[in-house]
Amino acid sequence: MRTVKIFDTTLRDGEQSPGASMNVDEKVQVAKQLARLGVDIIEAGFAFSSPGDFEAIKTIGAEVEGPVICSLARAKEDDIKRAWEALRDVPKKRIHTFHSTSDIHLKHQFRISREEALKRSVEMVRFARSLVEDVEFSPMDAARTDISYLCEVIEAVIDAGASTVNIPDTVGYSIPNEFGALIKDIHGRVKNIDKAVISVHCHNDLGLATSNSLAAVLNGAGQIECTINGIGERAGNCSMEEVVMAMRTRRDLFNADTHVNSEEIMRSSRLVTKVTGISVQPNKAIVGANAFAHESGIHQDGLLKDKSTYEIIKPETIGLHKTKFVLGKHSGRHAFRTRLDELGYKLADDEINSAFERFKKIADQKKDIFDEDIEALVSEEVGKTPEIYRLLGLKVSSGLDQKPAAEIKLKVDKEVVEKTEHGDGPVDAVYKAIALITETESSLIKYEVKSITGGTDALGEVMVSLEEDGRSVRGHGADTDIIVASAQAYINALNKLAAKK
Ligand code: MN
Repeated sequence: MRTVKIFDTTLRDGEQSPGASMNVDEKVQVAKQLARLGVDIIEAGFAFSSPGDFEAIKTIGAEVEGPVICSLARAKEDDIKRAWEALRDVPKKRIHTFHSTSDIHLKHQFRISREEALKRSVEMVRFARSLVEDVEFSPMDAARTDISYLCEVIEAVIDAGASTVNIPDTVGYSIPNEFGALIKDIHGRVKNIDKAVISVHCHNDLGLATSNSLAAVLNGAGQIECTINGIGERAGNCSMEEVVMAMRTRRDLFNADTHVNSEEIMRSSRLVTKVTGISVQPNKAIVGANAFAHESGIHQDGLLKDKSTYEIIKPETIGLHKTKFVLGKHSGRHAFRTRLDELGYKLADDEINSAFERFKKIADQKKDIFDEDIEALVSEEVGKTPEIYRLLGLKVSSGLDQKPAAEIKLKVDKEVVEKTEHGDGPVDAVYKAIALITETESSLIKYEVKSITGGTDALGEVMVSLEEDGRSVRGHGADTDIIVASAQAYINALNKLAAKK
């Protein structure tokens, strides 16, 4: 059985999804989860593109163990130097450099000849290789590049020291037969191909990113570039969970597998949803809310008799456990800390104390606390922003034939301020009162509420996006009372905006 490497680009291409920008703390949190998931390479960012990306790559390199940490860089000396600066102290590092090779890009975007593009690619691979051992090269828009020229470029960059050559379908134009044949052709035509791993990077513009990647695996690709939940530029990238579970479920056909610990899939998906604010569609394969829901009577009947009748993947395989009771109000700090350890969270003492306090409060309101509840609590603690505003009191009244009103008490720096406002509903009234107290000029772009587990006593999780002066932030709140969770999410976002100022 062959092992296919998983190159995760959630933090780079994934972050290029509109509105998905993540701060350094959020990226580190995702990177740690990717390490638990068992991906081989984490593309942590594009060092040259912004100080934030540079910082994120450096911090992830220092804090995340296991996977190779990679930075993207254009085929330019300054870009590559910057990538190297971010990666310098990282034990397992890779520079991923790229240059367009399709005539469409060379003619209309870069206005240079094929010869010039080839020369630059080779020079820059050689330069990157003088800085690090592990260099990957991508001929951008490879799927629309003339095959003879593409093979010429691949052979030359391998000679120059690239140990991975990635074949991107940059615009999501290819279809499986064609893309599989391309990978096969490359293997047949490039003389030194045995000295490098062929990678693929597929986009989902025609809904074929996963299919194209799998076709490539069948034709010898040894690395797949993908993202959690399939997020990414435009229609997104190949989805990690789909490509990994397709190979695992149909090992008989692929005769290949990955290092991914599939039980971490669901947790990875939830975390990425939380930090990017991009929800997963309910019918999404593997991680969608309905992916394991059987509605038809005939199917349910079969499942009750034998799971294999209609279930090709056991939900537990991806870490989707039947919600089981884990902790309750009598659980102590030690049990709480142990459970956090088991879930893979390493928190500082003050973070544990603060999360434990909130846990006790919630345990008073809710009988059983599930893993998902604990994760919601803890993720509030990680990368917490300084609290300029703090919710001290909240009272709402609403009902039939009644104008909803909210009474809010906030701590603003050291002062305590109270205001009452009316609104179209209790959340609207709460938000108006908070806006009045904080005098915020931000506008609310998105408000989403969902329940974390089943039952009417479930924790409600609220996500909001705010925008001010072109900057956007997301806030989260979790509570058994969705009005309180809504207020907390809003205040969390306002604190982030204040911290940015
Ligand atoms: Mn891409």
